[in-house]
Amino acid sequence: MTTFEQLQDARRILEGVAHHTPVTTSRTLDDIVGCQVFLKCENLQRIGAFKFRGAYNSVSHLDPQTRARGVVTHSSGNHGQAISKVGQLMGIPTTIVMPTTAPVTKRAAAEGYGATIVEHDPKVEKREEVSARLVEEHGLKLIPPFNHDHVIAGQGSAAAELHEDVHDLDVLIVPCGGGGLLSGSALATRNLRPGCQVIGIEPELGDDATRSFRTGTIQRVENPQTIADGTRTESVGDITFAMIQEYVDDMQTVTEQSIIDAVKYLFLRLKLVVEPSGALGIAALMSGAIKAEGKRVGVILSGGNVDSATMTRILAEGRD
Ligand SMILES: *Cc1c(COP(=O)(O)O)cnc(C)c1O
Repeated sequence: MTTFEQLQDARRILEGVAHHTPVTTSRTLDDIVGCQVFLKCENLQRIGAFKFRGAYNSVSHLDPQTRARGVVTHSSGNHGQAISKVGQLMGIPTTIVMPTTAPVTKRAAAEGYGATIVEHDPKVEKREEVSARLVEEHGLKLIPPFNHDHVIAGQGSAAAELHEDVHDLDVLIVPCGGGGLLSGSALATRNLRPGCQVIGIEPELGDDATRSFRTGTIQRVENPQTIADGTRTESVGDITFAMIQEYVDDMQTVTEQSIIDAVKYLFLRLKLVVEPSGALGIAALMSGAIKAEGKRVGVILSGGNVDSATMTRILAEGRD
């Protein structure tokens, strides 16, 4: 499992590179959900999501020869953007394996940071096989999106900042896909504010981590069709699962409608652009999946990368 020393080390590495993102509050929101909410705005992080933290920390730990050969990942989402951006900042080559079906905007964003895109046809081979081949043939270093100590330590730095900026939180609510953010946040919380409850949130349609948490063995979900695309992972990893079991107090799920409502609320009322995965915590509070009457509640808004078509749909389908 990732250690608190690794997390503190990540904080030193990220100092002055990652944004120390702001925490915002809203009386209106507090009145609606019946508790005092502190929103950690990782939607305002570099590349628009917390994934910059884990990516930068991981690449920083590579030796110069490895770095010079370059890094590869097979995530076309925020982790891919983060790796591309880190490559640009450090002047090292990056390769992102993307399906032929990936949206042009995602391709363009990664290419804009100087990444090389390797296309693969999901019908012909798995993305893991493509990146494994690049590792084998070109000596590239694979940076996984969540199941890695340096990634988890980096992601945990956001919650560490939150606990330092806002004292005495009773509850911390964190979105969960592969569990890197949740593991790191829980590790930070156990060390900085041991009494604070840590709750992971997943979309109902991709509830594998919640089932894993309840059953004690890693459960899977096949190609979940949730709007919260940052959490569409098939399962947690062995490291993140061990940390979730050790440090997380509870896991809850939220419906697609509640995610849509939360994104719309954050946009229209709080003037915050938050992507569906980033709004899971607010969805949990507003839908009543988590009740925290009278408590001080930290919520990680994990990212803000939502395209205009999705936001248009959310504004049309969300409740006012
Ligand atoms: C990746 C991501 C998540 C899930 O993080 P994990 O570490 O995979 O659990 C949540 N929200 C956003 C915006 C993400 O990009």
